[in-house]
Formats: sequence, C-alpha cells, structure tokens
Amino acid sequence: MTELSEAKQADGDTPITPGQLWIDGGAVAASSGRRRDVLDPATGELVTTIADAGDDDVARAAAAARTAFDDGRWSGLTPRKRAEVLLRAAALLREHAEEVARLESLDVGKPLMFTRTIDVPTAIDTYEYYAALAASIEGAARSTAFPSLAYTRREPVGVVGAITPFNFPLILSTSKLAPALVAGNTVVHKPAEETALSALRMAELLQQAGLPDGVLNVVTGGGAAGAALVRDPDVDKIAFTGSTAAGRLVAAGAGEHLKHVTVELGGKGANIIFADADLEAAINTAVAAFVFNTGQFCMSGSRLLVERPVYDTVVEALHGAAQHVPVGDPFAEGTVVGPMAGPRHLAKVRSYLDRAATAPVQVVSGPAHGGGGFFVPPTVITGVTQDSPFVQEEIFGPVLTVQPFDTEDEAVALANGTPYGLAAGLQTRDITRAHRVAAVLRAGIVWVNGWSLLDPSMPFGGTGHSGYGRENGPEALDEYLQTKSVVVNLG
Ligand code: NAD
Repeated sequence: MTELSEAKQADGDTPITPGQLWIDGGAVAASSGRRRDVLDPATGELVTTIADAGDDDVARAAAAARTAFDDGRWSGLTPRKRAEVLLRAAALLREHAEEVARLESLDVGKPLMFTRTIDVPTAIDTYEYYAALAASIEGAARSTAFPSLAYTRREPVGVVGAITPFNFPLILSTSKLAPALVAGNTVVHKPAEETALSALRMAELLQQAGLPDGVLNVVTGGGAAGAALVRDPDVDKIAFTGSTAAGRLVAAGAGEHLKHVTVELGGKGANIIFADADLEAAINTAVAAFVFNTGQFCMSGSRLLVERPVYDTVVEALHGAAQHVPVGDPFAEGTVVGPMAGPRHLAKVRSYLDRAATAPVQVVSGPAHGGGGFFVPPTVITGVTQDSPFVQEEIFGPVLTVQPFDTEDEAVALANGTPYGLAAGLQTRDITRAHRVAAVLRAGIVWVNGWSLLDPSMPFGGTGHSGYGRENGPEALDEYLQTKSVVVNLG
C-alpha cells in the first residue's frame, strides 16, 4: 500500500493487508496462487492485491457452504435467532462506519461524503430491515377438500451464489446477503474483481457478529470465478447483479444446471421534465441523477426528456452544471464527482466521448480533472435521435443525453424506447398526470419529483434487458425462500 493510500485510512482502522479468500470462517490462500491488483481510482496507484480464485477455490467455498447448509447450523435456527446475528452485524458496522466508508471510497473512488451518508448507512439499514422481517417468514394453514391439517412452510433455497458488480460494492452485497441469510441460506459471495475490499471486511464483521463458520464464504476473482460458481453443483441459486452481457451468460448457465436465478442488469433511465414542473428543483434533480456515483449507477438518469417550452432553459442550466459540478479527489471536502472505479470503466466511457466528438451531435463537457486517476468530465449531449447509441446503450459514466418532446404520449414512447426497463422518473406538478405516466413507464421503479429515492423497504429490479427478480423489500426475501406443503391426512 502506498503512503498516499495509507493516508486515506484513519488511525485505528484495520490495516489493508493483501486480501485472501474467506472460506469456512477464515482467511485462506487461493490454491490458484494468482493475485489481482487493487488500484486507487483517484491516483491509479497500487493499494493492495487480492486473491484470484480458480475453479478449485470456488468448489472449496461452495462445498463449505453446502456442508454449513446441510448440517443445519444456520438453516436449523429460527428466523428470529438468525435476525439477532444480522442486528449484531449492523451494530458492528455502525461501530466501524468511518473505517468502512474510507475503505469503500479508497476502493471505488466514491466521494467520502457519499460513502459516509449513503453506502454505509444503507447497508446498516438493510441488515436491520431484514432482521425485522424475520418474523414474517411463516407459512399458512390451507383448507383442503378432504379432511386434513394442511399448511405451508417457507424454507431457504439452499446455497446461494451471490455475484455483485463494482459500482456499489457494500450496498449491493448487503441487499443480497441480508435477505439470503435471514431466510436461512448459506452463501458464496463473488464480489467484483476491482472492488472486493468491503466484502472481505464484512465477512470478518459478520463472523464477529456470530455467523457460524461456512455460512458466508467470499471468493475474490474475475468473471471466470463467477462462471465457476454458476456451474458448481453445490450451488442452488444464483443471485446476479451486473451487466446485461454477463447476465445473459449467467441466466443461460443457471438454466442449464436448473438453478434458481435472478439477474439484476443494466439500465438507461429516462427522466421526463414536463413544462409545469418546479423547474429549479427539476434541474437540480436531473443533474444529480446523471452525475451521482460518477454515472456508474444502473438507475442513473442518463436520458433526459424535456417538454419543448422549457427545453432551452433546461439545456442552458445543464451546460452550466456540467462545467461547475465539483469533480476531484474523493477524500477532499465538497467533491461531488469522483473518478471512475477502474481503467476498464474509464476506457468504456472515453470510447463514447471519442465517438461523440465526431458524431452529428452537440457535446458540452466539464473541465478534465488533472493529476492522474481515472477521471472523466461530466458531459451533456444534445441533438441526438432515439436510435443513437448514446440514447440506446448504457454508457455507465457521467454522460447525459437530452431530447425535446411535444406531447405526453411522445414522452412515454421515448422513455420506453430502449431495450432496458430499470428506473424512470417524471417531474411535474400535475398529480393526475404523475400517476397516469408512472403506470405506463416500462421500469421496475418510477420516481415522481425526485430521483434515486431508494429504501430497503422498496423493491427494485428490471424488466426487458434490465433482467428479472427484485432486490429490497419483502419481495427480495421471497427470492431466497421456497414453499413446502405439508398435508396431514385426518380422514
Ligand atoms: P459485469 O457484468 O462486468 O460484472 C458483474 C459481476 O459479474 C462481477 O463480479 C464479475 O466478475 C462477474 N462476471 C462477469 N462475467 C461473468 C460470467 N460470465 N459469469 C459469472 N459472473 C461473471 O458488471 P460490472 O461492470 O461490474 O457492473 C456494471 C453493470 O452492472 C452495469 O451494466 C450496471 O447497470 C449493472 N448494475 C445493475 C444493477 C441492478 O440492480 N440492476 C445494480 C448495479 C449495477
């Protein structure tokens, strides 16, 4: 770890040591012997390395999770007993909140202001929310046509392979672990190769909270480790969050091995500003919606649709905002936009910006941030048509397209006119229109007069190429349970 990276950790934090795999309750070396670099996105410098799991390592983790499930050390506890462990994990995370926020900022390049106020608090909230839902894991008595005592039981699915992306490592792993664990499953977690540090730290905190050995295992590595998890015969369900391209492979692989599967995939969120909206609030929302998390947000408001009478005003305000949003060091006070999480993501966004420079569109970008690291400027693109790649493809950076519209029907058609269907929003003062449009937008979540309003109680997920399954809410708990019928013959 370099001196610069060390300075980003506070006194008393657990030191960032080279990451091992976490299997059967402890840190173990990968039998593959391979390592991967972890880079500081703000500088490009090496922070540490993590293990790069091979097929044998994934099999070892899955076997540990299988044994831990089958012997009932966790699935045999009542949901309320399991909830006690989740509550202790939430308390430990609260105790270590500053340390984990700094770790996440260092690993992902997220402004510390957000990891302190969003990432860590949301993870705590999510553990507590699912702990509270433990008592709702119950069956129902049924009335049959013949004499019986008939009832259903809600049981865990078994071993869950949880595969998560790089952009919200702590939140997205918690939104799988918390419902999966309280439901009684055991888990093998495969975090993203670029941003695995908080997953390894959480494994330690969960063990300290009393999670029995083998109930959570963490295998770090790339897509090959994820694919090995999908194939592994010890794994019963795959809970995947990531790109649409990888999600297709995961869904096909899970289908071949007849595993339960949920796939939470990419998005191209449309945010509609009607002329009757509170314009100042709508513009602030539109800016936050596309720059939040440096645009590395599946629910980013990356397409703005503006009713023609206010189009010029909105575009002018966006151009100003793109040039003045504070971009910089995630650890500096006031930074709103940090770097991209890694060179792979930077290259992808740059390829779109290079294409935009020669395409028949108008582009306004903020100033480039100097001093190394994986920075891209916030960028607003106008003059695009609906079939443009900037409108149709997920860029996954701080890049916004803006299109005018004349009627409500046209706005809805444009909003629904991509293969994705994850998040959408509309800004209006007309309450009737708000509900009418919310009902016809093709998306798993719709925001009215806001964006990114998320809560562990509110489910989100996709339709179309954004995938299927739901995270958050009681709906996500259902994804980790299966129903058994018990019928006692009273005839
Ligand atoms: P990615 O698909 O490249 O990787 C996601 C995870 O899948 C990583 O852990 C990766 O190692 C693993 N993986 C890659 N190929 C695999 C394969 N063939 N089999 C099994 N696992 C494999 O995605 P990313 O670049 O890390 O994340 C960005 C994408 O995730 C964007 O498309 C974004 O929209 C999406 N995302 C979706 C949601 C949602 O809730 N819908 C949330 C966050 C991110």
